[in-house]
Amino acid sequence: MAGIHIEHVTKSYGQLTVLKDFSLDIADGEFVVFVGPSGCGKSTMLKILAGLEEATSGTIRIGGRDVTDLAPGDRDIAMVFQNYALYPHLTVRKNMGFGLKMRGTDSAEIDRRVTEAAKILGVDHLLDRRPKALSGGQRQRVALGRAIVREPQAFLMDEPLSNLDAKLRVHTRAEISALHKRLGVTTIYVTHDQIEAMTMADRIVIMRDGIIQQIANPDTMFRKPANLFVAGFIGSPG
Ligand code: ADP
Ligand code: MG
Repeated sequence: MAGIHIEHVTKSYGQLTVLKDFSLDIADGEFVVFVGPSGCGKSTMLKILAGLEEATSGTIRIGGRDVTDLAPGDRDIAMVFQNYALYPHLTVRKNMGFGLKMRGTDSAEIDRRVTEAAKILGVDHLLDRRPKALSGGQRQRVALGRAIVREPQAFLMDEPLSNLDAKLRVHTRAEISALHKRLGVTTIYVTHDQIEAMTMADRIVIMRDGIIQQIANPDTMFRKPANLFVAGFIGSPG
């Protein structure tokens, strides 16, 4: 069981409170999309889940464990960022295996997992290249591959498509959905794009100024928006 349970999380930076009593239960294998305007606290919530920021108050449970005070490396989750953050001096193969190597996984096992993930993502012909010799879409696949090889309990994705052009974005969006169907790993996906949210999510969490406005599946959110903000953001007839 790798559900994610967020209980009464609040986050303040000095006087500025960016998350206000955020609570959410995510089921094992669910694909949940956080959506809302820039600055509403989406990235902050993901960073708290990843252990990269500390909540001011509240509790995080992943896979039945209280991880609130655990370091990022001890949480068994993998994060994918919009800027890929690949190591320029390492090949694709080494970029994808880097996290496993740091954890002391033996090299035959690293090789097996990297080869398998590269096949799934269609980058197996690029394993000996360095990031600068890849297109934006290929780099984003390598960043996804690096997350997959860790075989984590959950994926956290922060606007992973925002550096891609519109056509590639639609294509990669479908690939991420297909990947989720195949692997079934619990995923939180952050975007400010309501179309991504409506097409990819099992459930959408719509946020404004650090407060959840509504949690619902795309169909319900479209037909029964909780308030005018949700209706306007999702583009439903209200
Ligand atoms: P989103 O990802 O939804 O665009 P963020 O979570 O990045 O929003 O930011 C939410 C709010 O918190 C914004 O007002 C942002 O300026 C503020 N913020 C984020 N990180 C910090 C920080 N390290 N120090 C102070 N304010 C921050
Ligand atoms: Mg953000």
